[in-house]
Amino acid sequence: MSFDYNVLVIDPNTQQPIGACDHEQSFERYVVDFNDFRTLHYAQNTALNTRAPINGFDMVRIWIRGEEIQPDDPTYGWSILLDPNRIDAYQTTDVFYKIVFNKAVRLVIPLIEVSYLTTQGYCLKCSGLGVLNDFKPEVGGGFLRITQQAKLAQKGLKWILTSRCAFYPSFVCPLKSYVGKKLGIQLTDTDIQTSVTAALNQMQNVQQAQATVQTTFGGNMDPLEMMKDIQFVTAEIDPNNPTSVQVQAVISTFNGTSVPLSFQMMVNN
Ligand SMILES: [Zn+2]
Repeated sequence: MSFDYNVLVIDPNTQQPIGACDHEQSFERYVVDFNDFRTLHYAQNTALNTRAPINGFDMVRIWIRGEEIQPDDPTYGWSILLDPNRIDAYQTTDVFYKIVFNKAVRLVIPLIEVSYLTTQGYCLKCSGLGVLNDFKPEVGGGFLRITQQAKLAQKGLKWILTSRCAFYPSFVCPLKSYVGKKLGIQLTDTDIQTSVTAALNQMQNVQQAQATVQTTFGGNMDPLEMMKDIQFVTAEIDPNNPTSVQVQAVISTFNGTSVPLSFQMMVNN
């Protein structure tokens, strides 16, 4: 048996999401308006005031050149005001705000950074998914370890989605290169299905080769971490969204249990 750190988004056994995102946006860069010297604009697109809706005023923190500025600072104090002119909302109920210095701030290109919480549809941390494919913290403060079937699911998804293996660079899954391609012209759902099946077959071959070596050295591989068969692989275009392909796959372990692997990928149409 061996372990890995858990980076799964969905628990393969319960099919429940794990690792909810807090939608914190960290150190977004802002510039001050050069007419009023008070209103902040998002540095990457100065037509915007804040990039995303602010979810909770208490969580907004601002730094100028690395030094945190409190809202009641006598020189650089700031307020959060309603921004009624914003029109590019994700949902019509979204409310936008702008951050405004209480007094004119005439610094030459100051580095202004803002951290805040936003809502799921605007979150750059989780890309709007609501969950993170990052290390999952455990209660004790370390990272959650993953073993057996869940580890096999994670390994299979890595093999398919990351398209590369440092130890076996010739076994490459082309799936990552399909993202954004035109479905029906450059790519079909069958191509996706074929590449996922090929990647899983390669993983199975590598595991079987590893098992012979590991037995020789006395460390048997856990049958729950070994892939026995591919039960099925399907790739279907979402009937409600022609740019989304839902891929479902189920593999079996040497203990006879089933491990579901599923994910969604975005293409153009
Ligand atoms: Zn998020």
